[in-house]
Amino acid sequence: METIVRKIDKNQIDEDVIREAGEVLKRGGLVAFPTETVYGLGADALKEEAAKKTYEAKGRPSDNPLIVHIAEYEDLKKIAVNIPPETDALAAHFWPGPLTMIFEKSAAVPYGTTGGLDTVAVRMPSDPIAAALIRAAGGFVSAPSANTSGRPSPTTAEHVMEDLDGKIDMVIDGGSVDIGLESTILDMTVEPPMILRPGAITADMFEEVIGPVSIDETLLGSESKTPPKAPGMKYRHYAPKARLIIVEGDLREEILAIRQLAYAAHREGRDVGVIATGETLPFYKYGIVKNIGSRENERTIARNLYRVLREFDEEDVDTIYSESFAMQGIGKAIMNRLEKAAGHMRISAAAIVKEQKYRRVIFVSRADSVRGPMAAELLRNQDLRQEYVIDSMGLVVLFPEPANQKAEAIMKSAQMTLEGHFSRQFDGEGLQDDTLVLTIDSNQKEKILSEYENLKNVYTLNEFVGDDTEIPDPYGKPLTAYGECYEVLDGLVQKLADRLNLDAERDG
Ligand code: AMP
Ligand code: MG
Repeated sequence: METIVRKIDKNQIDEDVIREAGEVLKRGGLVAFPTETVYGLGADALKEEAAKKTYEAKGRPSDNPLIVHIAEYEDLKKIAVNIPPETDALAAHFWPGPLTMIFEKSAAVPYGTTGGLDTVAVRMPSDPIAAALIRAAGGFVSAPSANTSGRPSPTTAEHVMEDLDGKIDMVIDGGSVDIGLESTILDMTVEPPMILRPGAITADMFEEVIGPVSIDETLLGSESKTPPKAPGMKYRHYAPKARLIIVEGDLREEILAIRQLAYAAHREGRDVGVIATGETLPFYKYGIVKNIGSRENERTIARNLYRVLREFDEEDVDTIYSESFAMQGIGKAIMNRLEKAAGHMRISAAAIVKEQKYRRVIFVSRADSVRGPMAAELLRNQDLRQEYVIDSMGLVVLFPEPANQKAEAIMKSAQMTLEGHFSRQFDGEGLQDDTLVLTIDSNQKEKILSEYENLKNVYTLNEFVGDDTEIPDPYGKPLTAYGECYEVLDGLVQKLADRLNLDAERDG
């Protein structure tokens, strides 16, 4: 089957396209269309055979019910019975919008659509394209997410085509969706109503309208043996091809843990995927790092989640590590989808982080233009078992200057460079317990210790590696003196790398 793609502008809906799509649905065909949550795979909800086609195209188990989409509130009465009184208030507040409510079904709804259940899930989407299409199709359009079962839900028409090209009649391309996560599902057949799937509309929002609601605990507890009340929730969902692991802890620990894991993988010659946020992106150096959105605005994370998961399928990674997100507001829905995508695989950041003693090494010399920067660059070129932020600073730096030219010439001849280095004044600021400060001589060490009493881990380089070969000061001398200095530093830094690697082995 050839899948027709029709572009449409939300703000200026082309009625011809809507009519064409409506006809396809009325004939019992399948049309994918945008909604405010994700793209839906539409079919006539009142036709048994149309539901069958939907399951086939998605490769979806047929006990996983579909949601019926309507465009007029009055239409609810045609497909649901025993509608509880709170429904009016909920609909007034949240319809059209990302809320699905479950009711006892009327005889009009075939069991194919409800996956054999006597209840029916109903939603009124707010997307104007969706509303127009539902009307054109006769008022009742069943629509699960328009993806292959198990894959991340589609948030663009391209995602739909990735999965369903050739399997459905038509795709209406209305651009990117707004919310990016499926609707909140609220079961209205129990008292009080129960949230079966978290979404953009949260328990707090319901509470303001109808008082307390309950939450299906099987959604949150990963180890629960009881199947969730919303049948589809038992299947592995939204999963990328690589194995996804959620790293849990406080944010600082999560970043450190993921950095350790990404560095370890990199040393083994492979890359892992990293799901980071705009705020944390700069902290990652290794791995294939993707920005999922801003922690300041979790809606951006919801909107990008499935796209990012899909993008990792294009990358050569077998493991993806994700930061975790706050369980507030839409954060609950984000974590719910992420946990499903991860098949509930989580690791504790703290457990990984505590293994590394030093994370930052600062070489301190007088002017930060010769010996400090050379030592730092030498260490960066060592094969280190753990990742370190390696810097140099000086005790007398009046303004930032590039490295000494002779020092640079020596480094160049050893296939290294001090290019881009600018001298910095050591000010003891922002140093943590995991910082190792190594001075070139003992006067520098004494000076630091007397000025910054709280600093831990200040040693001379000689002392730290247990080798008292003197580090000569080549400043103002010919190039050969710089070469001799280099040789000494090279020997000491190799010992330093061995010492750090030995510590890493002991810890890890
Ligand atoms: P999708 O649109 O792909 O998210 O799939 C619809 C989901 O709605 C299903 O996987 C179920 O979790 C839920 N659902 C639909 N109908 C019912 C129902 N009658 N009772 C409980 N959950 C339902
Ligand atoms: Mg789905």
